[in-house]
Amino acid sequence: MTIAKPLLMIPGPIEVSPAVTAAFSVPPPSHVAPAVIEAFGAGLELMRQLWLAAPASQPFVFAGGGTAAMEMAVANLIEEGDHALVVKTGYFSTRLAEMVRRQGALVVEVEAPVGEAPNPQEVEAALVGLAELGPIKALFATHVDTSTGVRIDPEPLARLARQYGALSVFDGVCATAAEEFRMRDWEADLYLTASQKAIGLPPGLALLVASERALAARDNRRATAPPMVLDWHQWLPIMRAYEERRASYFSTPATNLILALPVSLREILADGPEARFALHRSRAEALRGAWRVLGLEPVARRPELESNALSALRFPEGVDASLVGAIAAEGVIVAGGLHPQIRGEYFRVGHMGYCLTQPAMVRRTVEAVAQGLATAGRSVDAEAAVAALG
Ligand code: PMP
Repeated sequence: MTIAKPLLMIPGPIEVSPAVTAAFSVPPPSHVAPAVIEAFGAGLELMRQLWLAAPASQPFVFAGGGTAAMEMAVANLIEEGDHALVVKTGYFSTRLAEMVRRQGALVVEVEAPVGEAPNPQEVEAALVGLAELGPIKALFATHVDTSTGVRIDPEPLARLARQYGALSVFDGVCATAAEEFRMRDWEADLYLTASQKAIGLPPGLALLVASERALAARDNRRATAPPMVLDWHQWLPIMRAYEERRASYFSTPATNLILALPVSLREILADGPEARFALHRSRAEALRGAWRVLGLEPVARRPELESNALSALRFPEGVDASLVGAIAAEGVIVAGGLHPQIRGEYFRVGHMGYCLTQPAMVRRTVEAVAQGLATAGRSVDAEAAVAALG
C-alpha cells in the first residue's frame, strides 16, 4: 500500500503547483544569473497586475516573511511622533499596532469583539478624534486576519484614510491573490504579503507594492532613516534595475524563490485577477456549505466577514483540539487556533491557491474533517458534506 503524502491545508504554507516546484527545485543560481534577472523583472511587473496597482506604484520583493513585509511598511512610513490608527480584527493586527508603536508613534486602536470587525462609522469616529490632535500619518488594517478568518472591506477604509489625509496600509498576507483588492481604484497606499500564502510559493519572500504617495512619505521623513535592510532608498534602485533587466545587488535575494515567482504569478493571472478572486469566492462558498452539513460554525460572526482564504471553525459540542490530530491521521494537515481569547475553541483550514484548481484536494479535505469528527464521537454525514461541494 502506498501512503499518500499528507495534504497541507493550513493557512500557509500551502500546497504549491508542480510547475512552481519544478522552477525552484534547481541548484541555487547566482543573483546576477540571466534567468534570475529575467524572473525578478517579470515578477515585479506581474505583481503590479495582480495588485491591480497603478503603473507608477513600486513593487518590492526581498528575502523575508509577512512580518518583514509589515516591518518594511511601518519602518519607511512611520516615525517618532507620528499619529496612526490601527483597525484591529485579531492576532495579526495586534502585531501591526505594536510595530507602529515601537516606531514611536501615537497609535489609536479601533477594536471589535473576536469574530467581528469595526465598521467604517466607528473607524471614522476614531479618525475624527485623532485628527483633533494633529495630522494623521496612516491607517493600518489586516485584510484577512488569519487568527479569526475575519475579512474587512478595505475600500471604505482606504477612502476614509484619503479623506483624513492619511496613507492606507493593508496587510494582505492571508488575502493577496485570494481576495479582491484594487490598489489603484481604491487609492490604497500599500498592500503587502508573503510568498507562502495565496501567492503559491514556499515561505521566504516578502512582497509589497507601495503607491507614489507612500514612496513620497519615505522621501519626506523628518529625521532618522529606517534600518538599512528595510529602507526603500536602498531597495528602490535594485527593484528598478531588475525591472529594466539589469543585474543589481544590495542584499542577496532568495534566488530559487525568485525563479519560481513569475511561474506562480502567471498561473494565478492566467485568466486575470478577477477570475482568481472568483475561484476563491466560489470554492469558499462550497466549503462553507460542507462545513454547515458537518455542523461546524465559523468564528466570524457575520457571513460578509467570512474570508475566502481560510475557514476558522469552532469545535462542535463535545469536541476539543484533539480533532486537529484526528484529521491529520486522515492525511490532511489543518491548523489549531491562534487567537489568544479563543485558542482552544476552534481550528483553521486554509483554502488558497493551487489546491482550489484540484477538486480532489478539496474533497479529500472535507472527507478528512468529516472522518476526524466521527473519530471524535460526532455523528456526521460525510457523503452529504462532499455533495455540498457541488
Ligand atoms: N499577517 C497575516 C495576516 C498573517 O497571516 C501572517 C502569517 N500567518 C503574518 C502577517 C506574518 O507572516 P510571517 O509568518 O510570514 O512572518
